[in-house]
Amino acid sequence: MNPQSEIPAATKRSEGGRNPQYRGRLAPSPTGLLHLGHARTFWTAQERARANHGTLVLRNEDIDSTRFKLEFVPQMIEDLRWFGFEWQEGPDCGGPFGPYSQSERRPFYAMALEKLRERDFVYPCTCSRKDIRDAASAPNAGDDEGPIYPGTCREKRKAESGKQKFCWRFRVPDGETISFTDGNCGEQKFVAGKDFGDFVVWRGDDVPAYQLACAVDDAAMGITEVVRGADLLLSTARQILLYRALGLAPPAFYHCALMLDENGKRLAKRHDALSMRALREQGKTPEELRRF
Ligand SMILES: [Zn+2]
Repeated sequence: MNPQSEIPAATKRSEGGRNPQYRGRLAPSPTGLLHLGHARTFWTAQERARANHGTLVLRNEDIDSTRFKLEFVPQMIEDLRWFGFEWQEGPDCGGPFGPYSQSERRPFYAMALEKLRERDFVYPCTCSRKDIRDAASAPNAGDDEGPIYPGTCREKRKAESGKQKFCWRFRVPDGETISFTDGNCGEQKFVAGKDFGDFVVWRGDDVPAYQLACAVDDAAMGITEVVRGADLLLSTARQILLYRALGLAPPAFYHCALMLDENGKRLAKRHDALSMRALREQGKTPEELRRF
């Protein structure tokens, strides 16, 4: 049986007068309190869905149980609603493409991994972080994914017997330029093997990696446009390779400029003072905050 056939594809239908040609999503992780930078990107996502009379999906990216905290989920949903976000499908309200929490979607990711293995797109890698760091020629990719993988385990085809931990890594087509037109940032080009290397699709601790979960879900949920922060431009190149390997059509992409703090640094979890929750407790109103 073709495992992919079990991933539901978006069907064309009109619900409540919504345009079936546009499905966007908000995909927060409940790893901490949402800050204003997230809110601004999500707001853009919502505005684009509204402008297109489309559907907005809330997807709870709680796949990484080592990082997310259960108590953050209701809080996250509460903060989003308070801020003025409105979605039509999500973990709290259901919908035709559920479940909408990644922790409940593991079978989809496992099927995708199986397909990548069958087609020889991935290989087991036993390198530790330190092994990769210590490899002489390991420049960093231009994002948060760390050093470009030096290719140590590339020719492995099977996980060796024994108890050594391994992850599954995607073998990128070295030298190929991955290009796409971003709805906000314009033409993008990244060279596989140079701008980014072989990336993890399934972690050594048996958790599906962000790249795989995200691509599988966007496809299965029929998302037509992904709106997210510009820190994920390189990840889009990786995900385009995953879509291709899995025989899926990629959505359109729209990457938003990141919000910076007063020192020109990207907002992060450490900016707790700018969490929606903190601002709300200080008496700010959603109307004030939406001026960004
Ligand atoms: Zn390795």
